[in-house]
Amino acid sequence: MATLSLRNVVKRYGHGPKANQVIHGVNAEIKDGEFIVIVGPSGCGKSTLLRMVAGLEEISGGEIAIGPRVVNNLEPAERDIAMVFQNYALYPHMSVFDNMAYGLKIAKVPVEEIKARVDKAAKILELGHLLERKPRELSGGQRQRVAMGRAIVRQPQVFLFDEPLSNLDAKLRAQTRLEIQKLHRDLGITSLFVTHDQVEAMTLAQRMIVMNGGNMEQFGTPEEVYHTP
Ligand code: ADP
Ligand code: ADP
Repeated sequence: MATLSLRNVVKRYGHGPKANQVIHGVNAEIKDGEFIVIVGPSGCGKSTLLRMVAGLEEISGGEIAIGPRVVNNLEPAERDIAMVFQNYALYPHMSVFDNMAYGLKIAKVPVEEIKARVDKAAKILELGHLLERKPRELSGGQRQRVAMGRAIVRQPQVFLFDEPLSNLDAKLRAQTRLEIQKLHRDLGITSLFVTHDQVEAMTLAQRMIVMNGGNMEQFGTPEEVYHTP
């Protein structure tokens, strides 16, 4: 777990006179263990901001720090983050266990350690009885939990969620939202969750960042954001 600091973060696409600045200096100090939702209309810069924290997009100005460590120039794998995507594409030919273990195998984590981490994650997500199954033998909700399991086993300092609920039907969306809340209660990992859905934002956020046109317009609890005069 760690704090997450955004210090005057700027993003420009392109170079020279044709450059298009899409993030205009965002400042936010996110506390250790906080669940933050970034909300705003399509095109306001939510995923760009998240992808800069993840290291999938270069930062054009300012600084991003996870704990005391400035991560601007670190590769995604070196940042102690894990990301849960909208399309949680699991490997269809691999078992649930292997899907969760895959990233750790690549990172050359010892086999015993992999087994211990996957078992622990499976317990938290109630997947223990499904470890030998293939993704096609799972319900939508179970697949979503495997995708989260894959993120948990990395033991990240920060969780990044990129609209993970937006392709789900209403019932599964509500169910997965509860899973995410439970996960955060259990593990207390500092989290950034992107959505364009205000209700989702209000339900999940401890504090929310409201983006508009590349600017951070508000940063506060849902009460503060929706009850400003
Ligand atoms: P949101 O996630 O809020 O929908 P994005 O972060 O995807 O917004 O996009 C913010 C702005 O940056 C938009 O105007 C978008 O067109 C632009 N943008 C995003 N990715 C690129 C890119 N690779 N090259 C150029 N412009 C981009
Ligand atoms: P999302 O907001 O879900 O990321 P987008 O349609 O904004 O979806 O972006 C999809 C992909 O296209 C992203 O990888 C983004 O970086 C890229 N992209 C978005 N806008 C532009 C743009 N104006 N020029 C080039 N690439 C873009």
